[in-house]
Amino acid sequence: MKREIISKLQRIVGKNQLTTTPEELLCYSYDGTGREYPPDAVAFPADTAEISAIMRLANAAPFPVVPRGAGSGMTGGSLPVAGGLVLALSRLNRILEIDEKNQLAVVEPGVITGHLRDAVKCRGLFYPPDPASLKFCTMGGNVAECAGGPSAVKYGVTRDYVLGLEVVLPDGTVIRTGVRTAKGVVGYDLTRLFTGSEGTLGIITKITVRLIPYPAARKSFLVQCRDIRQATSLVTEILAAHRPCTLEYLDRTALHIVRDRLPFALAPDSQALLLLEVDGDAGAVAIQAAALHEFLAEKELPAIMRAESAAETEALWAARRAVSPAAFTLKPHKVSEDVVVPRSRIPELVLFVEELAARHGLTIFTFGHAGDGNIHVNIMLDKSNPQEAAGAETAAGALFKEVIRLGGTLSGEHGIGITKACFLPLELDPASLAVMQGIKKFFDPNNILNPGKIFPGPGCPKNN
Ligand SMILES: Cc1cc2nc3c(=O)[nH]c(=O)nc-3n(C[C@H](O)[C@H](O)[C@H](O)COP(=O)(O)OP(=O)(O)OC[C@H]3O[C@@H](n4cnc5c(N)ncnc54)[C@H](O)[C@@H]3O)c2cc1C
Repeated sequence: MKREIISKLQRIVGKNQLTTTPEELLCYSYDGTGREYPPDAVAFPADTAEISAIMRLANAAPFPVVPRGAGSGMTGGSLPVAGGLVLALSRLNRILEIDEKNQLAVVEPGVITGHLRDAVKCRGLFYPPDPASLKFCTMGGNVAECAGGPSAVKYGVTRDYVLGLEVVLPDGTVIRTGVRTAKGVVGYDLTRLFTGSEGTLGIITKITVRLIPYPAARKSFLVQCRDIRQATSLVTEILAAHRPCTLEYLDRTALHIVRDRLPFALAPDSQALLLLEVDGDAGAVAIQAAALHEFLAEKELPAIMRAESAAETEALWAARRAVSPAAFTLKPHKVSEDVVVPRSRIPELVLFVEELAARHGLTIFTFGHAGDGNIHVNIMLDKSNPQEAAGAETAAGALFKEVIRLGGTLSGEHGIGITKACFLPLELDPASLAVMQGIKKFFDPNNILNPGKIFPGPGCPKNN
């Protein structure tokens, strides 16, 4: 990046809010994928006006701009693959408004998701999206990826709560989308278009979200199963008759890596877990929990435990959230996919994954949001071992093909980014892909905003 551009950027954000020192650039070269792409510079703008000025400059120069929240993305969305400027949104971190009467909140994109959930809980309100990364990921990153979490089975994902946005377009224009009302159908739904756009169409600078009353009561169950087949076959049966707010599962390996963190002892024949919760008002929860317990008691399961205190419930969830980071006790590297299949096909998918692991001599384990059919498939490897590296790549490709064959989709919440871009044509027909590329071109004709993401590039193999 030219010295002259750096000077102009410094004039916009202030000298102290721009860095080009190699050690600081390194910190902004990574995300949850562990891949490394250093930017030329990192800017820390203070507000929408500064972001708009940066985009006008970038569009005219031109140079790439990559928005970044906490950098916890799992598909490389915040990585500056073509160099340029990383736009770190950490200074836009204010909760601007909590409107209790109309049950909504307005936040800046750098607000940590867990902070918003805590702030509204104090007022008896609930912001349901709960990615496992909620203690460190940001609302801007959540909207850009349309993040989800365990509660999606009852409450839905980020897009179900975004009412409106303020967005800076690649040419610096500032637009406002959506409403502050319970309903609204004026014009095209631009709010939904930007939600899940992975930072490729505009920079989100304000977010208005819908809130709901905080559920008064909650009961959690830890259901110990004989094996993964028993666990995954139970999913559709449970959902046919019950309405849990979470329905997660852990396979044998996932269970093994977090077993010491669980607040309960495991039965010797437990080889898989279901983690289930019901919530609502106290009376309804008591009835739902009793019905669920009765249903499960008939299933000849090794054990069914009920969390009796808030501390036990929190310990269960802490163990569930620890699965992803604890995986590194198995191998130094992880390829983490978040595929989705129709719930009735989960048993077929987990069987396929077991065969895939055996075929390639790899450790592959699964866990995730069984209630949504959203399965996290984790391929563990040591990248310095060429056989394992090649096996992991082939296994990921075979997994995606199988997911599509089962009627599923490549990503439930992590997005496409760079890691799945080459596989997009497996799921999207050429005409749909062309429409999406046309939308990108309309918003960003000079391809300056987060280039190299979502769409297959020239380096992709012809027949994936
Ligand atoms: C341990 C762990 C557990 C996780 N669990 C979950 C989970 O349960 N569910 C889930 O959905 N995800 C999960 N993730 C993935 C990740 O946390 C989410 O994708 C999250 O939404 C990313 O937020 P972030 O602030 O880190 O965004 P970043 O990683 O910084 O960015 C993600 C994308 O959003 C874009 N972006 C960021 N801010 C803006 C903005 N203001 N305007 C426009 N574009 C923007 C970036 O350019 C990038 O494309 C997990 C990650 C980890 C490491």
